[in-house]
Amino acid sequence: MSLRLEHINYIYNPGTVYEKYALQDVSLSIGEGEFLGMIGHTGSGKSTLIQHLNGLIRPTSGTVFYNDEDIWADKYDRQKLRFHVGLVFQYPEYQLFESDVLKDVCFGPKNMGLSSGEQKERAVRSLRQVGIPEEDFSRSPFDFSGGMKRRIAIAGVLAMDPDVLVLDEPTAGLDPYGRDEILNCLSELHEDRGITIVLVSHSMDDMARYAKRLIVMDHGKKVFDAPPREVFSHIEELEGMGLAAPQMTYILRDLKEKGYEVDISAGTVEEARDTILAALAGRKKAAKG
Ligand code: ADP
Repeated sequence: MSLRLEHINYIYNPGTVYEKYALQDVSLSIGEGEFLGMIGHTGSGKSTLIQHLNGLIRPTSGTVFYNDEDIWADKYDRQKLRFHVGLVFQYPEYQLFESDVLKDVCFGPKNMGLSSGEQKERAVRSLRQVGIPEEDFSRSPFDFSGGMKRRIAIAGVLAMDPDVLVLDEPTAGLDPYGRDEILNCLSELHEDRGITIVLVSHSMDDMARYAKRLIVMDHGKKVFDAPPREVFSHIEELEGMGLAAPQMTYILRDLKEKGYEVDISAGTVEEARDTILAALAGRKKAAKG
């Protein structure tokens, strides 16, 4: 699996007074098994960008390749592409509509033309993967809490067995418990099924915990594309874009300013913990000596 955007520009309502340059010369390549985070201020172009990944919108200029094929070439089957690149929109629970959970999740596989047996098999597997217990399959999707509804909606996309799962702010509006459930579920899908994940989020802390590569968007441009630790080291630039580094980076920076020998480039909370513990142990030793 490979997805490649080359020099994408996108303009909403071109030639009208509402014309808006949403993406400017964005190039991006996503490989098999990546866990890619995408962050940026509201209006920076994240939603517009991810809709290019499965051909929902056509670039004003530039090319999108899926497995080295131009998805806007004549006769390219974009309907099929949408099964390979599954897009979970913001607040996907608003798209639940069937009378029971199982039927709802069968909707995608049904559209793919699979037999009813296969539809059910995929729906059951996907619901299990997002942690919905079997006894809930026949309940109405509207009976559930926000976090559960969202997991059911994600199962609906998973049931199409995508190679890539793209999620636009899947934790928006959830409490910390619901948020952790969704993120842990994505992490498991990534680890166990090797599914490629593109996660749009406004939380740098979530990015630090899950993303292996981080894209930062600003005013329609891709400004960073690097491992999270490298991105976090640009605190001032991030703040200039209305973003912030993760909390741990600020704590490490404060400790460093106070004279502790910490490594402020920690990429995860665990690394931050380790460098703080090592600095404390170093101090104790120095005090004793
Ligand atoms: P993000 O997802 O980062 O919040 P978007 O991709 O939604 O950013 O928006 C990028 C820019 O395009 C913003 O300036 C936004 O106002 C504009 N935009 C988004 N959708 C539309 C639309 N349907 N019509 C016109 N402008 C739009």
